[in-house]
Amino acid sequence: MDCCGHGHAAGNTHHHLWPATLMSVGALLAGAGGPSGSTAAADAADETAAALAVLRRAVSIDVHTHGGKTGISSKSPPSDDLANHMRAGALAVACLADVPDGPILGRDAAGALAAVRTPASGELYRHHLARLAWMDELVAHHGIRRALNAADLEAAHQAGEPAIIGDVEGLDFLDGRLERLEEAHQRGLRHLQLVHYTPNDIGDFQTGAIKHDGLTEFGAEVIRACHRLGFVCDVAHATEDMVRQAVKVASKPLLLSHTAVAGSRAMGPTPLTGRQVTPDHARAIAETGGSVGIWHFFPDLDAYVTGLKEMADIVGTDHVSIGTDQFDSRGCVADYTRWVHLMAAMLRGGFTAEETAKIAGGNYLRIFKAAVG
Ligand SMILES: [Zn+2]
Ligand SMILES: [Zn+2]
Repeated sequence: MDCCGHGHAAGNTHHHLWPATLMSVGALLAGAGGPSGSTAAADAADETAAALAVLRRAVSIDVHTHGGKTGISSKSPPSDDLANHMRAGALAVACLADVPDGPILGRDAAGALAAVRTPASGELYRHHLARLAWMDELVAHHGIRRALNAADLEAAHQAGEPAIIGDVEGLDFLDGRLERLEEAHQRGLRHLQLVHYTPNDIGDFQTGAIKHDGLTEFGAEVIRACHRLGFVCDVAHATEDMVRQAVKVASKPLLLSHTAVAGSRAMGPTPLTGRQVTPDHARAIAETGGSVGIWHFFPDLDAYVTGLKEMADIVGTDHVSIGTDQFDSRGCVADYTRWVHLMAAMLRGGFTAEETAKIAGGNYLRIFKAAVG
């Protein structure tokens, strides 16, 4: 197994990894979690230390994010926030998603996102290119590496430097032109989600009107092109019919990066019901060797862990990931200083260290290696 070879290889450099986080454990040990010397504070420090041990040994990956309230879907220019938060919480890799249909999205009365107007010709392509320029500047000046292959991910983790995988949420910039996928690859993207909130010629999305009865022939061509060029293919937001048809076309593991199980008790009442998935929908992804990411829209970290368990009970721990969908201050992982605490909650909630490592990154790494190399 890779993890074993890696554990030994990383053995010499443990003291270089995530130094800022080691200081935050020091702060916790000094009593930040409770009265100095109390049992609760000592337990919290032990849990954080155990979580850090997992994060030093294994590459952890948020499989779907926009990088929080100053991230790529915000109006803020690139800043050091993402790198600082990832270091503080010991997150190794973020799949950072540009949102091509961002300019035309709004919220309905229930608080759910939807496209509120038809884009002008070329508008979403231009927005997509502007966001890729944002990503370039983040990588050039703000302490984040860009990973183009699995070796880059492992090298960044070993060096203790945060990395992104360039991602895009919804291929609404293609305008029917497959050559724009090649351009996306040249620009450093390695992960593509097929549909979002805007009707396109690829397939149907969960919160929209059914137009295609699933995946179109062009959509099938896009999946084959993802395999050929070397992208992780992400079917989040797709209808169950589209996913079933995508599974038949796919010859590599598929990802469904951010959702929760239908009727999730851990989530409770939510405007996101239309974006949850049935057990069979999730199983279809698992059967490709893929993984289902669970978002962070839970009341607290312990409820988030229950949400991960709800999905693991259906598909098994080899097929669950963490895809927070962090885009503003909503959600229980509001920024990545919380990541190590999420890991601690997973260990406290009954996941073993090995299961935690798989859910927090190993399962995505398997998909990434198969898709990208
Ligand atoms: Zn989404
Ligand atoms: Zn998103």
